[in-house]
Amino acid sequence: MAFFTSASKTLPSRRKGPADPAVVKLNQDVLTTFVEVYCWKNHRRERGDLCPQCDDLLRYACQRVERCPYDPKPKCKTCPTHCYKPDYRSRMKEVMRYSGMYFVKRGRIDWLIKYFFSPSI
Ligand SMILES: [Zn+2]
Repeated sequence: MAFFTSASKTLPSRRKGPADPAVVKLNQDVLTTFVEVYCWKNHRRERGDLCPQCDDLLRYACQRVERCPYDPKPKCKTCPTHCYKPDYRSRMKEVMRYSGMYFVKRGRIDWLIKYFFSPSI
């Protein structure tokens, strides 16, 4: 079980107090922007007006951020706990992939920098 052995070394510590509101907000802002672009382009909604499915996904994702049990919050990609349900997880992956490409094509790397270089997203 080499995988578990190496993973446990980097296990972040459990959060003792409430989540850092600034970290929660930054995560939620990035999630919102990514889901908005995805819905706008794929479901032909007005930008900022999410379809019920994307609205549901975003609410779920924002809730996961608030409930992250670790401090400091690890990047979801490297987190040992996959707290998303498989369905939401695959949908969010698709959103991140699509919107990530959208920002690259538009030269909006400021959003990608926010996403990839933030210590806690
Ligand atoms: Zn949508």
